[in-house]
Amino acid sequence: MPPANRPVVALIEDEPDLLAMSRAYLEREGFTVLSAPDARSGRTVLRGAPVDLVVLDLGLPDGNGLDLLRGVREDGGPPVIIVTGRGDEFDRVLGLELGADDYVVKPFSQRELAARIRAVLRRAAPRQDRPGDERPPVLRLGDLVVDTGARQVRTMGGPIAFTPREYALLEFLAATPGQTFSPGQLLGRLWDGADWQAPATVTEHVYRVRRKLLAAGVGAPRITTVRGFGYRLDVPADPDA
Ligand code: CA
Repeated sequence: MPPANRPVVALIEDEPDLLAMSRAYLEREGFTVLSAPDARSGRTVLRGAPVDLVVLDLGLPDGNGLDLLRGVREDGGPPVIIVTGRGDEFDRVLGLELGADDYVVKPFSQRELAARIRAVLRRAAPRQDRPGDERPPVLRLGDLVVDTGARQVRTMGGPIAFTPREYALLEFLAATPGQTFSPGQLLGRLWDGADWQAPATVTEHVYRVRRKLLAAGVGAPRITTVRGFGYRLDVPADPDA
C-alpha cells in the first residue's frame, strides 16, 4: 500500500531508459510510480489501482496512445499528461482535443515533468484547505451552475464533463463575468505562468469549452472573443433586475 499522501502516477512509456529515469526522479520527489511499457498493459494498470495522474507516451509499440487517452477520458478518469516527439504536433493537438490536461515534448527534463505533474494535480485537487465555515461558492450564471466546491458545472440537463484545465478556465472566467482577460493573463493565472506555453493553448481550451457548452445546449453564458485582446464570459442581463 502506498502511503496516502504520495500521489500515484502511472507512466506509460516504452523506452526503458527514459522510464527508469523518470521513475527514479519522481519517486525521489515523493510520488508513487506505476508503469507499463505499452497500451495494453497500461489499460491493465489503470484498471488495477487508483491512479492520480497518467503520463502517457503517444508513440507506443502496440498502437497509438491516443486510443488509450480516449478510453481514459470516456471513463472520466484521472488527468493525463501526454508525451510526444518534437515533430508530432498533430498528435499533440489531437491529444489536447481529446482531453489531455497538458503535454511535454521529448526530450524533456525530469524536473519539468515533475513540475507539470504537480501543477496538473494542484488544479485537479478538491479544495480541502478551506476553513470549515467558508463554503466554496456556487456560481449561477444564465443556464449554468458552477459548483466550485464540487468542481462541477451543471445545466438543467445535468453535469457537463470538463477536463481539470477546461474547468479551471471556465471557473476563472465565471468568477468575474464581463471582465476581459488576455491569453497571456489566462496563461499566467491558469497555466502557472509557464511562458513557453503558447497563447494558442488558451485559444484551444476556449474552443473546447465553447464546444461543450454548445453541445449541452447552453445559450448563456458564453465566452466572447474580444478581438485583439482576449476573452470574457458574458451573461445576459437579468430581466427581473
Ligand atoms: Ca515511444
